[in-house]
Amino acid sequence: MADNRHTKLLIIGSGPAGYTAGVYASRAMLDPLLVQGIEPGGQLTTTTEVENWPGDTEVQGPDLMVRMEAHAKAMGTEIIGDIISDLDLSRRPFTAKGDSGTTYTCDAVVLATGARAKWLGLETEEKFKGFGVSACATCDGFFYRGQEIVVIGGGNTAVEEALFLTKFASKVTLIHRRDELRCEKILEDRLMKNEKIEPLWFHELVEVTGTDMPLGVEGIKVKNVKTGEITELACKGVFVAIGHAPASELVIDQLETHMGGYVVTKPDSTATSIPGVFAAGDLTDHLYRQAVTSAGMGCMAALEAERFLAGEE
Ligand code: FAD
Ligand code: NAP
Repeated sequence: MADNRHTKLLIIGSGPAGYTAGVYASRAMLDPLLVQGIEPGGQLTTTTEVENWPGDTEVQGPDLMVRMEAHAKAMGTEIIGDIISDLDLSRRPFTAKGDSGTTYTCDAVVLATGARAKWLGLETEEKFKGFGVSACATCDGFFYRGQEIVVIGGGNTAVEEALFLTKFASKVTLIHRRDELRCEKILEDRLMKNEKIEPLWFHELVEVTGTDMPLGVEGIKVKNVKTGEITELACKGVFVAIGHAPASELVIDQLETHMGGYVVTKPDSTATSIPGVFAAGDLTDHLYRQAVTSAGMGCMAALEAERFLAGEE
């Protein structure tokens, strides 16, 4: 049923940035509404061990996010299971339309929609998505017990996924377009020591091959970026881990963005090009993209929203 909700502060997104904004905004008595989106808990729900969240030597990503949600709720944030499909920042109160049919209006908004996995854009990648091609090892790794798989990429995500997948797969080939990884050194060490992982340097995926009936992956074709030579590799699974792009589609035409869609914020601030609109986390951050930095920006956004709203009263 169509419904209208007004709030002083609307928070869009339920990753570390959104939930932290919820904690701080609640304690500032702003009675925030937080809309969770399609991925309640955000990117950390797609991983296993998180080893760099201060205070926890090791914590499971999904558990951490359940705790953050409970924390925001306990402080007074109203958590709503909905997805914002349209956001109008042209006049105040700002208006957000939810997939549920609810229209949310608000005096200020914190955008914390984070980032989403990037794909290579190959036709055959699209064809086998969900049938051997995946961007989430934690979600799909279990299906590849005793099989050979490949991981594409050379960052933290690719290396963590390759390591995680060795729990199931008989062999993991890490395919990277250079011969240098951009992951943390501790992860690189673990990768190099793992006998189940074989790096394939200076190669790019050009095609996923497989069967149509039933739809399934049987191998890949890779190109040597130095020589152009194409070789085939047998595998049952392809995990694409080539980074993340900001989820800025709601605001791309309304706010200043840069570097492929990251929302621009003022120096030392989460304020965007529209007064009353604050952006936090991976949506604005092309540099650090960490849970702790996202949470820090969520805190800043809530405090800045509080000051903005107080200044208007
Ligand atoms: P996200 O976590 O991306 O959350 C975005 C939220 O916005 C989601 O809840 C989504 O549902 C919501 N949303 C999006 N669009 C809409 C919409 N239209 N309407 C409503 N809601 C919407 N960082 C670390 O510090 N340590 C790690 O060990 C670590 N491991 C990682 C492992 C993996 C596999 C990945 C992918 C990332 C990892 N990161 C890690 C990075 C970390 O997860 C991100 O930096 C962090 O989650 C960003 O937080 P965020 O709140 O900005 O957004
Ligand atoms: P990333 O750091 O941007 O790395 C992406 C990797 O994919 C790079 O190695 C890149 O190659 C490669 N790549 C990009 N486009 C490609 C293409 N078209 N074809 C082939 N290869 C391509 O992304 P990420 O690993 O997803 O990490 C994103 C953020 O989350 C980072 O800030 C990261 O620190 C954070 N994160 C942190 C942890 C942790 O703290 N443990 C874990 C996961 C993620 P080049 O190197 O050649 O550019």
